[in-house]
Amino acid sequence: MGIVNAGQLGVYDELDVTLREIVEDVILNRTPKAGGNATERLIAVAETFRGDKTTVEKKVDTWGVTAKDRLIEAVVRGNASRLIEDLETVRHEVLARRGKTIEINEDVLMRGLDIVGDRFGEGKMFLPQVVKSARVMKEAVAHLVPFIESEKGGVAATKGKIVMATVKGDVHDIGKNIVSVVLQCNHFEVIDLGVMVPTQKIVETAIAEHADAVGLSGLITPSLEEMSEVAKAMQRAGLKCPLMIGGATTSRVHTAVKIAPHYEGTTVYVPDASRAVGVLSQLLSPATAATYSSEIAKEYEAIRARHTQKTKDMLPLAKARANPYRLNTMDPIPPHRLGRQQLDDIPIDVLIPFIDWQPFFQAWKLPGRYPALLEDAHTGKEARRLYSDAQMFLLRLSQERILRAAAVFGIWSGYRDGDDIVLTEGNQTLTWRLLRQQNVKAAGKPNYCLADFVRSRNEGKDYIGAFAVTAGLNLEAAIKSMMGNDADDYTSLMIKLLADRLVEAAAEWLHFRVRTKDWGYEPHPGTPDYAALIDERYEGIRPAPGYPACPEHSVKKDLLKWLKADQIGMTITESYMMLPGSSVCGFYLAHHDARYFAVGKIGDDQIEDFARRAGITPNEARKRLT
Ligand code: SAH
Repeated sequence: MGIVNAGQLGVYDELDVTLREIVEDVILNRTPKAGGNATERLIAVAETFRGDKTTVEKKVDTWGVTAKDRLIEAVVRGNASRLIEDLETVRHEVLARRGKTIEINEDVLMRGLDIVGDRFGEGKMFLPQVVKSARVMKEAVAHLVPFIESEKGGVAATKGKIVMATVKGDVHDIGKNIVSVVLQCNHFEVIDLGVMVPTQKIVETAIAEHADAVGLSGLITPSLEEMSEVAKAMQRAGLKCPLMIGGATTSRVHTAVKIAPHYEGTTVYVPDASRAVGVLSQLLSPATAATYSSEIAKEYEAIRARHTQKTKDMLPLAKARANPYRLNTMDPIPPHRLGRQQLDDIPIDVLIPFIDWQPFFQAWKLPGRYPALLEDAHTGKEARRLYSDAQMFLLRLSQERILRAAAVFGIWSGYRDGDDIVLTEGNQTLTWRLLRQQNVKAAGKPNYCLADFVRSRNEGKDYIGAFAVTAGLNLEAAIKSMMGNDADDYTSLMIKLLADRLVEAAAEWLHFRVRTKDWGYEPHPGTPDYAALIDERYEGIRPAPGYPACPEHSVKKDLLKWLKADQIGMTITESYMMLPGSSVCGFYLAHHDARYFAVGKIGDDQIEDFARRAGITPNEARKRLT
């Protein structure tokens, strides 16, 4: 039953799309087959609208009066409901006074974008709103381009041309896309080469387009090596333009130590999309470029000096090995079920309660802790809107069943052999070569290696689990189905971020299942305690290759083969990146004492030792390990 107050009737099309869909699902009874959870979803979303009483009336009041004002509003608010109509009105006005269509771009739309850029810079607007503004801008420009071209209206002035790419071997583009949007909103022209871009293509494009700067992005650690290669190639090609480095595993230290030395142009680490504009503006403005570049050069020189200092205070490998963590004598609990299992289609619904929302808001650059940030005076409103949008997308993802999550996992007998962990099945083995901390420790503190948490063969029987999960199967199809064929950064970012959330949730869900059921060493509490799961407060760990306790990636290839992960559509590239992008793999160690740590810097002796164990050259080992 709906209750309508005719005195407050809004325009149906102007209703919040998310809210409208969720309400329609309830009123029109659209979700009876998929578990009928429309009611719960509405209640969850209603929570996020608490205290939001006046927005609807305000929206109508402050909307501009003239078409031109409304266009500026449309860009600022990211609302395209009257866009084309208003564009046409303004275009005819411009033509009537013998002006050119391009003026609309410069005088009207760009003014909207300026407001967006300023407010974002001041922290008054948030990334999701910026992405929506960019979406409106793109739509407007797409509408105007044919007219501009037929009038030969010349090119709009930009602050600079930036070539952006995710490097070879890496498909992750969330960060890169965010930077592109933010740069475009600040009048930079972005040439986005996409993902898995070969070095040569980046360099060739930078030359052909006379790029003012190149931006590289990557998520997985092997991409770091690739970025050094791009820097070298830029140097060989004689390029001089600034090189920006960004992405989750990149860092200032890494940029200073590993990338900057290969390239004479300014190489700069950009930790966050919101900094990209400031950095580029300083680097590209003749007034500040020289000073800014030399400041960065000095800073990075100092970082390099500190870095060399640090590598000197290190224990020889033999000494570190003589100080391992000594496992207590607790007998391992035998698993209820040994061997491999496969789950082809984990319902998205099942995973939703296991989602850790903190990284979601972080990715959208909304500061604060979840769930408190939903109630925050400054960010709360936007956070709630984003959260309810996410609920709506999740609802559709779980109903339409296009995006798919799957897992392969199991528990095997195994043992520690030196610093290796070995899994066995019949006469098959999987060897996981691990690294040991080599920093000087305080008295009584061990030099950890993950192998320390497993018993050697003469200490008795032990078990090790392994898993691979993905929530990225059919991702592209899911994005298409959500938004038709039109490129839309907001929807695409949203779905990619949710796929990332879902795969982490799947890893958490699976680990919970293994602990309580397949291995069964933890009692089943009915429903798991959300806070405890998010903080990973439980027995045992699931170290993932590439992370600090086991930074070496190549075992992923052997692990996926061991798990026969190709049977759920998971593969791995030459640079050890798993496909689909939203995938996670790792091992389960069940011992009560097992914990995460960081291996940190290792010495040449351990690099050579690793090379011997893995049957590769010390050079190859150095590439993989440092
Ligand atoms: N809930 C977060 C957690 C992801 S990262 C999210 O949804 O994004 C947490 C996982 O990273 C751990 O379960 C483990 O698999 C891995 N991890 C974290 N620290 C690690 C370390 N020091 N060594 C190895 N793996 C680690």
